[in-house]
Amino acid sequence: MLIACNNKKCMQHSDAKLNTTSMEVICAACNNPITNITESMKRALKSFGQTIKENAKKAFVMACKNCNANREVVMSNGGETVCKVCKGAIKVHTAMKQAIKEFGEKEEPVVAVTTLSDTTTAESPVKVKKPRQPKASVKQ
Ligand SMILES: [Zn+2]
Ligand SMILES: [Zn+2]
Repeated sequence: MLIACNNKKCMQHSDAKLNTTSMEVICAACNNPITNITESMKRALKSFGQTIKENAKKAFVMACKNCNANREVVMSNGGETVCKVCKGAIKVHTAMKQAIKEFGEKEEPVVAVTTLSDTTTAESPVKVKKPRQPKASVKQ
């Protein structure tokens, strides 16, 4: 089922797929979410199996009002449950909060936005994000 992308730079018809976690429809041409998809269209995509299979990672997903999508909930440094994408607070049940605390991801440290004036040094090692790195292994 071809879906018209509403991203201005794209506007192509592609086999856009439904991300069943975030309930976003992702354009196959530009990989950006298409934001004008109705709920019934999403249901149709789901029934056709035109969906994105996410890797089976344990994630705590809740509806985020700011993103208007289902987002992964992570623990903030302040011990609050926040949206992983917009960092907005998401209220969850106490039991779920506890579960996120124990099994969920911590909020990622804020990475400095690279400005255009920055020169990227080839020597600087690219750090691969490891979500479950134990804290104790920090060497002096
Ligand atoms: Zn597109
Ligand atoms: Zn959000």
